Amino acid sequence: MGVALAPYAADESHSRGRRYDEPVAEYRGEYQRDRDRIIHSTAFRRLVYKTQVFVNHEGDLYRTRMTHSLEVAQVARTAAVALGLNEPLTEAICLAHDLGHTPFGHAGQNELNACMRDFGGFEHNLQSLRVVDELEAKYADFPGLNLMFETREGILKHCSARNARELGDVGERFLKREQPGLEAQLANIADAIAYNNHDVDDGFRAGLLSLDQLRGQPLFATQYDEVHRRYPDLEDRRLIYEIIRRMINTVVTDLINTTQHNLEDAAPNSIDDVRESARPFVVLSERIYEQHVSLKQFLNQHLYSHEKKLEMTYRAEAIIRELFELYTSDVGKMPAEFTNRTERQDEAGRARVVADYIAGMTDRYAIAEHERLLGKS
Ligand code: MG
Repeated sequence: MGVALAPYAADESHSRGRRYDEPVAEYRGEYQRDRDRIIHSTAFRRLVYKTQVFVNHEGDLYRTRMTHSLEVAQVARTAAVALGLNEPLTEAICLAHDLGHTPFGHAGQNELNACMRDFGGFEHNLQSLRVVDELEAKYADFPGLNLMFETREGILKHCSARNARELGDVGERFLKREQPGLEAQLANIADAIAYNNHDVDDGFRAGLLSLDQLRGQPLFATQYDEVHRRYPDLEDRRLIYEIIRRMINTVVTDLINTTQHNLEDAAPNSIDDVRESARPFVVLSERIYEQHVSLKQFLNQHLYSHEKKLEMTYRAEAIIRELFELYTSDVGKMPAEFTNRTERQDEAGRARVVADYIAGMTDRYAIAEHERLLGKS
């Protein structure tokens, strides 16, 4: 692959491999191949029309799941290279991490989970793995995308013990309380860094967050004071960009330095040493972590729970719930490929097919189907 990997990085020559054996790729590394498969997947293309925080039609400049995933990958790749980790694997995990998300963001996920309460629930991390392991039907020789173990390990960020037992190898770490590889740890925290920062931008653009409110957040205030001092006449929009740019830089630099220290102290010699560690290595310093969490809580309270957002939440919940009720009572209302999968299934099996169908919808497709089938808009 050209770039020297640190001994604790994931190395394809020591991988736990793919579920179905395949000849090695000629011009690409195996994790590059995973990334390419993810980019070519249907689920990836649909991320363009799925909500991150704002519903797709609320405005053209807001983040979607697609641009969010690209920003996560961008943050994580910088840190991966700086730490000697496997960059293609890091990128693959980041691009795939939200493939299982429902339409309408967390409102959609929570409602689908409620609909599936009696049938094993619905969890978007698990669904992301299900998409790459089973639902993408693109290859003649195997179901799903047949990704490398380390990519799948990274996609499955959380998992209940019950689901972990059913998943086999990739679920084992949740039962043994082990860590995933460093690339997975990095993708996980890059996700939080990316959304904390881009949601400040989107929230401000939407007029739901004000400069005064944001200045109550230490991560923001530190950069605000500095930028305001150096460029007192900067217009608000440009001021915000300059602040966010510096916020990302501060947090990512802190992440790289703190992680580097941890790795030097513990000196893991392989990815298995990393997995067996009691605690993750890829972390922020205590001080920056507190500020990061404070901003996250602030966004929770003032952006994600803003009354304007709640209106959208209630509508999204109704659309998901009513579509779920409709399809479970008449599976023939789904396209044939889904209807066929419900044959010889019990009630729980049929509900899972419906959940797969709904989870795969884009925001506007869900709205259009709801309107077409239930005559509501
Ligand atoms: Mg995400």
